Amino acid sequence: MRADPCVITLVDLDSLKKIVKETVDAKRPVLEDIARYLYENPELGSEEFKAFEKITKVLEEHGFKVEKGVYDMPTAFVASYKGKSAGPRVAVLAEYDALPGVGHGCGHDLIAASGVGAGIAASKAIGDLAGEVLVIGTPAEEGHGPSAGSKVIITDHGMFDDIDGVVMLHPSSSWGVGSQALGISKCNMIFKGQTSHAAASPHLGRNALNAATLAYMATHMLRQEARRDANLVIHGIITEGGTANNIIPDRAVVDFGIRSSDQEYLDEMVDKVARCGEGAALAMGVEVEITKNRFYSSKKINHPMVRTLWQNYKDQGVPVKDWHETVNSMPMASTDYGNVSQKTPSAGSYIKIAPEGTPGHSKQLADASMTKEGLDAMIVGTKALGMTLVELLAKPEILKEAKEYFDSH
Ligand SMILES: [Zn+2]
Ligand SMILES: [Zn+2]
Repeated sequence: MRADPCVITLVDLDSLKKIVKETVDAKRPVLEDIARYLYENPELGSEEFKAFEKITKVLEEHGFKVEKGVYDMPTAFVASYKGKSAGPRVAVLAEYDALPGVGHGCGHDLIAASGVGAGIAASKAIGDLAGEVLVIGTPAEEGHGPSAGSKVIITDHGMFDDIDGVVMLHPSSSWGVGSQALGISKCNMIFKGQTSHAAASPHLGRNALNAATLAYMATHMLRQEARRDANLVIHGIITEGGTANNIIPDRAVVDFGIRSSDQEYLDEMVDKVARCGEGAALAMGVEVEITKNRFYSSKKINHPMVRTLWQNYKDQGVPVKDWHETVNSMPMASTDYGNVSQKTPSAGSYIKIAPEGTPGHSKQLADASMTKEGLDAMIVGTKALGMTLVELLAKPEILKEAKEYFDSH
């Protein structure tokens, strides 16, 4: 009988997932060693040279082809491992930058270990599958140095355009999959007027500080009309406002951060804030220079991706919150992972490494990453990420569904 090329060999997903779990358990000492090494050698963003060496070495030892220093970022990398033939490309992201003063207070030591572990575990299971697993090293998530927000740089270079699905995890004080993130943009206003003696000749001056104050207040007034479902946050400061009270200030600077869970609405609001600056300048008869910057995008939640990743946590028996609840909960912060999510179907997850209520960016969270609870959680998360990578390659219909969802939302 002639083989029908349309008959797809059924893969036994359960046994592939078993390979992932067993590999993660077997590699636990290697993964813990990565986490501990990073914990003991915290490096700021763009300067994560030790972490970069350590991580890329382990990936190379496990058969990954590693491209180092991508897009002129010395500590960024793309590691890849190919399956049987060409096919979908799925990726896990690794972060490894620390914070000043509190070391790995954001737990990126565990993110690095989980990215490496999930990639290696998936590589052991995909021998008979079409496609490719990538571990992408994304430095400076905390925004330090020239590679700050590296995922934005990588995304803008089109790296994610031909990647079909992305996953990652982040340490936290609870379990969750699919949380939202606020987009953040910046709007900076430099007002330029004319100095003059504030008592003797005020009529010859043009007051830049008055314009800045007016812009600041006008921006506050926008809040009244804010869309309540879009989680708008505006935070601003006046960074320059004159040099002496007897001189009418000829220069004042206002700096705003504007956030929202709706990227389009965020862009609209940034324009409105800028208009407050223009209006204030007009009213006070000064000039204004306005710079608008898109910083991090909001997260585009992809239900099929979230559901798949969530199930791989749930199946391990951890008390992960129902994903429907997580995707609908209020977004609190911003991340460069948001930019990735705007380009390709993705899912993020939180692993519980510390008691509920432990603050992020703290010494407590850093230390929690080295406790048994922290390392156990990293192992659970690594398995969930690895199983998801394999599941996406073994069941391309999930990626198809994810793409359709992505295109229609
Ligand atoms: Zn952080
Ligand atoms: Zn973080």
